[in-house]
Amino acid sequence: MKYVIIGASAAGINGAENLRALDKDAEITLISEDTAIYSRCILHHYIGNMRDVEGINFVDKDFFEKNMINWIKGKAVTSLDETAKLITLDDGNTISYDKLLIATGSRPFFPPIENIHGKKNVVGLKSLNDCDTILTLSKTAKNIVVVGAGLIGMDAVVGLLHNKDVHAKISLIEMADRLLPLQLDKEASSAYEEKLIEGKVDIYFNSKVTKLNPNPENDLEINSLELENSEVNTRIDADLIIVCAGVRANVEFLKNTTVQYDKRGLIFNKKGETNVKDIYGAGDVSGRGTIWSVAVKNGIVATSNMANVHRVMDDFFFEKSTMNFFDIPTLSLGCISSFDKFENLKIETMKDSKGVYKKIAHKDGHIYGAIIQGDLAYTGVLTQLIRLYIDISKIKKSVFNIDYSDFFNINSSLEFKYED
Ligand SMILES: Cc1cc2nc3c(=O)[nH]c(=O)nc-3n(C[C@H](O)[C@H](O)[C@H](O)COP(=O)(O)OP(=O)(O)OC[C@H]3O[C@@H](n4cnc5c(N)ncnc54)[C@H](O)[C@@H]3O)c2cc1C
Repeated sequence: MKYVIIGASAAGINGAENLRALDKDAEITLISEDTAIYSRCILHHYIGNMRDVEGINFVDKDFFEKNMINWIKGKAVTSLDETAKLITLDDGNTISYDKLLIATGSRPFFPPIENIHGKKNVVGLKSLNDCDTILTLSKTAKNIVVVGAGLIGMDAVVGLLHNKDVHAKISLIEMADRLLPLQLDKEASSAYEEKLIEGKVDIYFNSKVTKLNPNPENDLEINSLELENSEVNTRIDADLIIVCAGVRANVEFLKNTTVQYDKRGLIFNKKGETNVKDIYGAGDVSGRGTIWSVAVKNGIVATSNMANVHRVMDDFFFEKSTMNFFDIPTLSLGCISSFDKFENLKIETMKDSKGVYKKIAHKDGHIYGAIIQGDLAYTGVLTQLIRLYIDISKIKKSVFNIDYSDFFNINSSLEFKYED
């Protein structure tokens, strides 16, 4: 059996390793545009000069030899012929497959802003190449602007603040009224805001970049940008702009095929199967549930089915983010940003003298989401309550004090029941 996997990251690498474990004789080829294996989740350590390429690698040095995987690196797949079962690379070479896994992930999205494309000092944050550009330009930059204060934008700012070679003024621009608007409320955001202000970062909330201004002496470079907010329009000097305004799935090479994808990304079922026989998908390329752990699981599930070992994505994955910027740990569960759309949702909050902040949203006995910041000890219980959709209405104590003894009691028919 000849397996080809496109993508050498969370989904592709874990998928390839799983295939080898399940099929000792298979021919496995892994293709990636990337020339190194690394975790994107810790790219900020690389930007911060805290780790080198080896330090962010997540496989053993002999991974490819040990697993007898042929890795074609630094090559992009440009097209697919699903009838002939053939893929074409950017160097014109073709590779045939019996079964194919598409694990091409995503790339930074550049919003439609005048002059955003084709400039040397406007970069996203997704790959090691992006980081190398950031590291080179940030050494001499006087003004660095990060556009977007989501998880990736925060990684960019935190990485730069750690880097002792960076002496630039850093500005962070966000359309919402807080940091990490998909994960945090104002209160939780403020803990990180304080740290950014201590680090002399200028934060612009409720602000939108409307235009990038090219350097009159070199129009391949930007030297400032225009900001619009409800009060005033501002111009900010910028000699490095890091755009962290979302991502788009890498599905372009599927354009002339019958493989189905939508605006978010590749469509595949719980077994990882696409609509085309022998073509599977895994990870961020779906545009859904785009976190590392989901990509890993997707890769393992899809490759199991490719090797005829039945597995499904049976986990209940809800929106879940953990972060630890400036050593302040935070867990965000559920879709915090859409809480106001739920009718009759009861939201309870508490903050103790040590700054530990908890917010839990529940309705009809079920928890829909939470923010826990400062001390994550309670998050194990919370995750189980949400994951298992446990009814807490019979527990007569504060929602912040529920513990395992209140519900982890299983009766003879293996149903959860409460302590009397
Ligand atoms: C800065 C940053 C920080 C993050 N932090 C976190 C975090 O803290 N926690 C968390 O859970 N998640 C985090 N994520 C998200 C996480 O990294 C992704 O969910 C995960 O990397 C997805 O893995 P993947 O294998 O699906 O795709 P990707 O990691 O996107 O990898 C795609 C692979 O496909 C290759 N490829 C793409 N197109 C082609 C092509 N046409 N031909 C050949 N190869 C191609 C690429 O070279 C790459 O090897 C972060 C992401 C970023 C960018």
